[in-house]
Amino acid sequence: MHSTHKGGESRCGMKAEFKEDAYHALSAEDVLAGIEASPTGLSATEAAQRLQLYGPNELPATPARHPVVRFLSHLNNALIYFLLAAAVVTWSLGHFVDASVILAVVLVNAIVGFIQEGKAENALNAIRNMASPQATVMRDGHRSRVSVADLVPGDMVLVEAGDRVPADLRLMHARGLLIEEAILTGESVAAEKREDPVPVEAALGDRTSMAYFGTMVAAGQGSGVVVATGVKTEIGRISTLLGSVQELTTPLLRQINRFARRFTWVTISGAVLLFLFAVFARGFAWPDALIAIVALSVGLVPEGLPAVITITLAIGVRRMAARNAIIRRLPAVETLGATSVICSDKTGTLTRNEMTVRRIVVCNDEILVSGSGYSAEGEKLFEDEGSEMFPDRGHALTLARAGILCNDAHLRKSANGWIVHGDPMEGALVTLAMKAGFDPENIRAEWARVDEIPFDAQHRFMATLNQVPHGQKVILVKGAPERLLEMCSMQAGEDGQVPLDPGYWTVRIAEAAAEGERILGFAMKPAPASACRLSFGEIEKDLIFLGIMGFIDPPREEAVAAIAECHAAGIAVKMITGDHAATAAAIASQLGLGDNPAALTGHDLDNIRDEMFEATVRETVVFARTNPEHKLQIVRALQRGGAVVAMTGDGVNDAPSLKQADVGIAMGQRGTEAAKEASQMVLLDDNFASIVSAVHEGRTVYDNIRKVVAWTLPTNGGEALTVVTAILFNFTLPMSPVQILWVNMITAVTLGLVLAFEPPERGVMRRPPRAADAGLLSPFLVWRVIFVSLLFLGGALLIFFNALDRGLDVETARTMVVNTIVILEIFYLFNVRYFHMTSLTWRGAMGTSPVLIAIGVVFVAQLAFTYLPIMQRLFATKPVSIADGILIISVGVIAMVILEGEKYLMRRFGLLD
Ligand code: ATP
Repeated sequence: MHSTHKGGESRCGMKAEFKEDAYHALSAEDVLAGIEASPTGLSATEAAQRLQLYGPNELPATPARHPVVRFLSHLNNALIYFLLAAAVVTWSLGHFVDASVILAVVLVNAIVGFIQEGKAENALNAIRNMASPQATVMRDGHRSRVSVADLVPGDMVLVEAGDRVPADLRLMHARGLLIEEAILTGESVAAEKREDPVPVEAALGDRTSMAYFGTMVAAGQGSGVVVATGVKTEIGRISTLLGSVQELTTPLLRQINRFARRFTWVTISGAVLLFLFAVFARGFAWPDALIAIVALSVGLVPEGLPAVITITLAIGVRRMAARNAIIRRLPAVETLGATSVICSDKTGTLTRNEMTVRRIVVCNDEILVSGSGYSAEGEKLFEDEGSEMFPDRGHALTLARAGILCNDAHLRKSANGWIVHGDPMEGALVTLAMKAGFDPENIRAEWARVDEIPFDAQHRFMATLNQVPHGQKVILVKGAPERLLEMCSMQAGEDGQVPLDPGYWTVRIAEAAAEGERILGFAMKPAPASACRLSFGEIEKDLIFLGIMGFIDPPREEAVAAIAECHAAGIAVKMITGDHAATAAAIASQLGLGDNPAALTGHDLDNIRDEMFEATVRETVVFARTNPEHKLQIVRALQRGGAVVAMTGDGVNDAPSLKQADVGIAMGQRGTEAAKEASQMVLLDDNFASIVSAVHEGRTVYDNIRKVVAWTLPTNGGEALTVVTAILFNFTLPMSPVQILWVNMITAVTLGLVLAFEPPERGVMRRPPRAADAGLLSPFLVWRVIFVSLLFLGGALLIFFNALDRGLDVETARTMVVNTIVILEIFYLFNVRYFHMTSLTWRGAMGTSPVLIAIGVVFVAQLAFTYLPIMQRLFATKPVSIADGILIISVGVIAMVILEGEKYLMRRFGLLD
C-alpha cells in the first residue's frame, strides 16, 4: 500500500505507508509501526507535541444561535404580540407616551430575558465542561485518565463496558468486547470485536478490528491505538453531533407558559367586556376607554414570569454545581425538590471507598492485618503475631499472591501518600501483597497474565489465567464468596487439597460481614501449559477454594449527617448494594439508616409474591446482593406507590434504572459514560452528601418560583383591580393608563426579579417533600392572590379618596396612588420572602443585596417620576408633600402588619401548603 496519508508524512515524518482508511486491514504491528506508537503508549511529551499538530480530539460544537435570532425569539409569544398590538392602537390614537411606554415594557422584558437566557446557557455550557468525558490511556508506560479532547493518534486507549469509545481505535486486544455502533451503522445489535485484521474492502459495520469514536462499549474490555481524532474520525466525517442538546424547558416552565397563555386570553376577553361596559353603560369616549383598558390588560398580564422562572432555575443549577451536583437535564432541578426516596449505592457513595484488608481467613486460621490506607509501611502489621513478617500459615501467601495477580490496579506514590489507579479494593490487595513481601511489578512479570475474564456486577467474580514460573499455568478467581463457593468442590487444606467445607466458610463470612467488612473470596485451579483462553464453562466448576479476605471501608462521616438531614426532611433513604447482606446491614447501622436493619437480598426479592412486592420494597431500607435488574424493579415499585425516586448508579447495566428514576444520579468519578448519559445529574465527588445538598437547593428553587408567582400575580392584580373598580363604580380613574404602564415597567424588572435570588429559608429540610403532582397554583396561592389584590385595592382607594377629600387635585392624588402601589409592592416583597416564618426579624428586614439594589432603583425612579419636571409632563404627575409621603409609607406598614397577621394565622391553622 502506498502513502495517501493526508499530509501525515510531511507533518510529523511518520512512516505512512498505507491508506488512512485501511487500518482495519493491517496487522496490529503494522499499524503501530505506521503510526509510530507502541503497546506501552506515548510519552507525555510526545503526546503534547502531537496534540499541537493534530489539534484537540473534538467535534465542532453546535453552532450557537445568532444573538439577533435569540433576541427576536423573546418577542415571539402571544403576550408580546398582544402588547405590540396595544402599542400600535395607542399610537394610532395619538397617545404617543402610552405607546412608547408599552414598547419600553416589551423591550426591557426582552432585553432582560435575552441577557438572562444567555447567562443560563453559559452556566449550563460551563457545567457540561465540568463533567467532560475522560479516557483511560497509557502515558509514560502508566495507565492514566486524560480528557477525551487530549487524545492524539498513537495513544494507547483502554476501554471497558459502559465507556464511549473516545476516538477511532485500531484494536490491539479485545476480550468479550461488544460495541453498539447504531449511531454509525444503524445496526442496533452490538458488534463483536476482535483484534484480527479484516479484508480491506470490509464495510464499516464489518470492521471488527476497529472501535469508532462515539460508539458505546456494551460489554467486555479492550485496548487499541488511536488512529484518528476529531473531525478525521468516522463520526467526524459524517459530522453527526454527539450528545443531546440541553433542553431549556421543564414541566414547571411549561405549566407557567400554559397558564400565561390562558391568562392572556381571559384578560383580553375581560378587557373587551369591560370596554363595552365603559363605553355603553358609563359613557366613556371610546378612545379613552380603549387606552385605559389596554393599559389595564398590559398591567395584568405577567409577561415577565416565564423569564424570571428560567432565571430561578438557572440560579439553582449554578448553586448545585457549586455543591458538586451537575445537572444534565433542567427538569431535575424541580424534581429534586420533590424527591421523597433516595436510593443510594453503598461503596464510595455512603462509604469512603478507601479499602484496607483487615482480615485473612484460610482453613482453620485467621490473620488480622493492621494499618490503614494504601501504605504498606508500619510496625507490627500482623496483629496477633506482633510481628512485621507476614505469617505464611495455611496458604496465606498463596492468597496474597492470587490477590495481586487477579487484579488490574496499580499503586503510585504521590506527595500525599499512595494513590490507587483502578478499583480501590484491588488497590488494597496490592498493598496487602506488599505487606506480605511481594514486589508487585516483579510478581506480575514472573506470573505473566495470559488471559482474563473481567469483573462484572452480574456474575460477581473476576478470573485470570497466569503462567506459573517455569511450569504450568494457573486459573485464579476472586469474587463474592458465596458465588465462588458454588464454583468450588475442594479447598486448600493444611496438607494439600481437601473436600470443601461450605459450613465453615459461611460462618466465617458471617462473622466478618457482621463487622461491616466487605468480603472477597479466592479460588484457583491448575491449568495445562497449553491453555491460552479462559471460558466460563471451565471456571464455573471444580475450583479449589483458597480463603477469604475482609476489607474495611469506613462510612463517610458527612453521609451520616446527610442521612439524618434526609430523615428530618421526610425523605426515605435506601441502600441498594451488590455487597453481602450482613456487611450492608452493619454499614447501614453505622450510617444511622436504622437499628440493625434487616437486609433483603436480590434472591429474596425474586421470591416475593407480586402482591407483596410494593409494600416490602417500601418498608425495606437495605437491599444487598442485588443486580441491576433488581434496581429497576425497586424504582418501579416505589414509583407505583407514589414516591418521587432519586437513584444512584455507575455501571453500564444501571442505565435502565437511572432512566426510570425520577432523578437518575450518576457518579462522576466511578461512573461509566453510559450511566452518565442515562442520568439527569452527575455527582462530581460521588458523595451522598452532595445529593442531599442538591435536594436542598431543589427545594429552594421551587420555593423561590412560588415566591415569584406569589408576588407577581397579586401585584398585577392589585393595579388592575383599582382601575376596574373605578370603571364599574363610575369614579375617576385613580391611575391614568400611562401611570399603570409605568408601575408595571419599573417594578417588573426590579422587584419582580429579585425573588429568583432568594437564599433558602431556614428549615427547608425540616419539611416533608411536596406532593409530586401538586400544581403551582395551590389553594393557598390562589387565596393569596385574591387577598393581596384586595389589600392593594383598599390601600390605593384609601389614599385616593383621602387626597381628594382634602381638596388635593386629581393629578396629585394619582401620583400618590402610584407611589402607594409601589410602596405596597415593596412591603409585600418583604412579606413573601418568607413563606414559612415571619418576615419581622432582623434578617428579614435586612433583605439580600439584590433586594436592596432593586429597592434602591425603584426608589430613585419613583423620586424622578414624582419630582422631575420632564417626568411630570410625560406622566401628568405632581410633587407629593413630605407629610403625604409619610402617609403613603404608613399605609405600607399597616399592610405589612396585616399580611404578617394573615401569615401567622395561616401557619397556626396549618393552611400553608
Ligand atoms: P455498590 O452497589 O454499593 O457499589 P458493590 O460495589 O459492593 O456495591 P458490586 O461492585 O456489584 O457492588 O460488587 C458486588 C460484589 O462483587 C462485591 O461484594 C465483591 O464481593 C465482588 N467484587 C466487587 N468488585 C470485584 C472485583 N474487582 N473483582 C472480583 N470481585 C469483585
